[in-house]
Amino acid sequence: MNICCIFGTVIDESHRSSSKKNTFVAIKFFITFNPYFFSREKRITQSMSTFSLSSKLPHVGTTIFTVMSALAKEQHAINLSQGFPDFPCDEKLISLVSKYMRKHFNQYAPMAGVMALREQIVEIVQEMYGATYNPETEVTITTGATEALFCAITAIVKEGDEVLVFEPAYDSYIPAIELCGGVPVCIQLEYPSYKVDWDKVKRLINQRTRLILINTPQNPTGSILTEEDLAELEKLVRTNDIFVISDEVYEHIIFDDLSHASVARFPDLAAKSMVISSFGKSMHTTGWKVGFCLAPPKLTRELRKVHQYVTFSTSTPFQYAIADYLKNHRDEILHLSSFYQQKRDLFLQLMEGSRFKPIPCSGTYFQLMNYSAISNKPDQEFAQWLTKTHKVASVPVSVFYRFKEDHKVVRFCFAKEDETLKQAAEILRKV
Ligand code: PMP
Ligand code: GLN
Repeated sequence: MNICCIFGTVIDESHRSSSKKNTFVAIKFFITFNPYFFSREKRITQSMSTFSLSSKLPHVGTTIFTVMSALAKEQHAINLSQGFPDFPCDEKLISLVSKYMRKHFNQYAPMAGVMALREQIVEIVQEMYGATYNPETEVTITTGATEALFCAITAIVKEGDEVLVFEPAYDSYIPAIELCGGVPVCIQLEYPSYKVDWDKVKRLINQRTRLILINTPQNPTGSILTEEDLAELEKLVRTNDIFVISDEVYEHIIFDDLSHASVARFPDLAAKSMVISSFGKSMHTTGWKVGFCLAPPKLTRELRKVHQYVTFSTSTPFQYAIADYLKNHRDEILHLSSFYQQKRDLFLQLMEGSRFKPIPCSGTYFQLMNYSAISNKPDQEFAQWLTKTHKVASVPVSVFYRFKEDHKVVRFCFAKEDETLKQAAEILRKV
């Protein structure tokens, strides 16, 4: 209607006593210069040239997980890149979700999370780490660990604050820090043990240091922090005004009879920490995106201030289903380490005799392999080549370093059916 009206005006005003020809010229003029008739692309290009948007994340592209999974699909390759199981979760969990959906638990969950789930988490943490958290004031359910990490970082980091991050680092940390105006200060883990050099850490701490971000068991390296590491960290936060975010999403996947050194075990450290985990890893349900954050009341209050405006709350039936499952089948989680240790050992055994050199993995479901006996290609190029030529997708580890440190190492995800691992190893042994 609007267009007809403008149209009418054009003809009326410029060609009051118009001939047919003049009318035609007017229509042509109108169509050519009226943005409504531009192609969508043309209109977008034109409007973009009238304002400039400087990116808040100029160095960020699409995540390596999306890139490699898409390439694997395109190349019909075996996908050992992005970290997710190719086997189903427990059928009981699926029945529980549908049970709670049918019971009409389909509206907003409480902002802090379903209480039944918070209570289950508290019980498990008490049992495993001997730590007492209050479900009311110290536990928040989030939409995956990614959301918890983003909210935790946003709650703590202000413009100009320095944040210590260990590299190779999980990819969501640095963008979140930068969006808050924080300054990531990267410390490389020692290659190839991927251990922390605490003297290096001490030297980097100054008045501006606000936060230290740790991840154990560590993605992508599979290394873990020991009790001694956490004791060092505890000393640092005791004497400095620093907080800690501890990403423990692989807390239940730890091998060789090692035990997980959770921050929750260290009272002075826990008093200044947010501990983050995810049911995506523990229940083979990465697509459900249910995670949580444990933190003392003061930190939890700040975290929730952000969480309530990021997602407000997390999917209701999934929370009830997980709570119910944890109540009745808790042992399943506790057997996760032996389940994945068998997968790790099978993969390593199948890879014997290959030119890939494994780097010890103490936790997570990732196995790093050095390929320098095979090729000198940079790791990103190597991973692409391996996917395209040999049809096995991996993740190049340099992408987890700010300045793309390249040790000629790629990451393989072994959260796969034994048959998938066998097929992949058969190919990789011949590379
Ligand atoms: N932290 C680490 C170390 C991870 O590996 C992942 C994902 N695999 C996440 C956080 C994000 O977890 P979620 O999928 O629950 O958001
Ligand atoms: N954490 C998973 C991995 O490391 C991927 C998560 C994602 O794709 N965002 O592979």
